[in-house]
Amino acid sequence: MHKFLFVDLDDTLFHSLAKCDPRDALQPIAFLKDGSANSYTNGRQRAFLDMVGQGMTLIPTTARDRDGLARVDYPFTHCRIIDFGGIILAPDGTPDPVWLARMGDDMATALPGLREVLAAIDHYARQAGMPARVRLVEDLGLPFYVNVKDAEKNLDRLDAIEREVVVPWLAAQGREFCLHRNGNNLAVLPKRLNKARAVEYLQARLRDEHGEIMTFGMGDSSTDARFMAACDYAIIPRGTQLSALTLGVL
Ligand SMILES: [Mg+2]
Repeated sequence: MHKFLFVDLDDTLFHSLAKCDPRDALQPIAFLKDGSANSYTNGRQRAFLDMVGQGMTLIPTTARDRDGLARVDYPFTHCRIIDFGGIILAPDGTPDPVWLARMGDDMATALPGLREVLAAIDHYARQAGMPARVRLVEDLGLPFYVNVKDAEKNLDRLDAIEREVVVPWLAAQGREFCLHRNGNNLAVLPKRLNKARAVEYLQARLRDEHGEIMTFGMGDSSTDARFMAACDYAIIPRGTQLSALTLGVL
């Protein structure tokens, strides 16, 4: 039986240097645009990749865009789910045309709302003198979501943006949208953009191709939970947002 591991990348398979334990034997695995390393694996993470690479097909299921995925030094050979599920790349790197058309329609519907919340956040941050980096994240010609980072990684300021702008906007006119927070990332996403939808679509295609399959889902973040729940088994790394919200609570 074919076994597929739908796997988030950042903070699941590897970490940025700031989150690594300096006592570990670190090796670079992901790089910035200028070619400098910014994410690393420790020995256990490399052993995990070796282990799953032997018995399973890895399908990255990531918020990274196509360029960001290309800067991860791992030989993914099958489909790749990128942009929070907005794009599915075939093994040859071309976007799945059926999924692209579906997301094109969904994101055209979402675009006015994304522009509105982006303008509201931008206005608030400027008035408050916050060094917030607010942008509409696009890939392959489609707009996907609004991302906000604080230039000085001051999470109190992101909390204020969430409380004063995003929560009231979602309550008043953003019912088709949701908020995601994890560290120095605040994102406002259309609800139709989610990894679970893309995973379910791809699972159906893989079943057409292979018959019965076994699926594993692995991620670190609360936004990964839904796609992991769509798989037969879930794997949660220790010390992550998702482990604190699930196993940690129990
Ligand atoms: Mg992650």
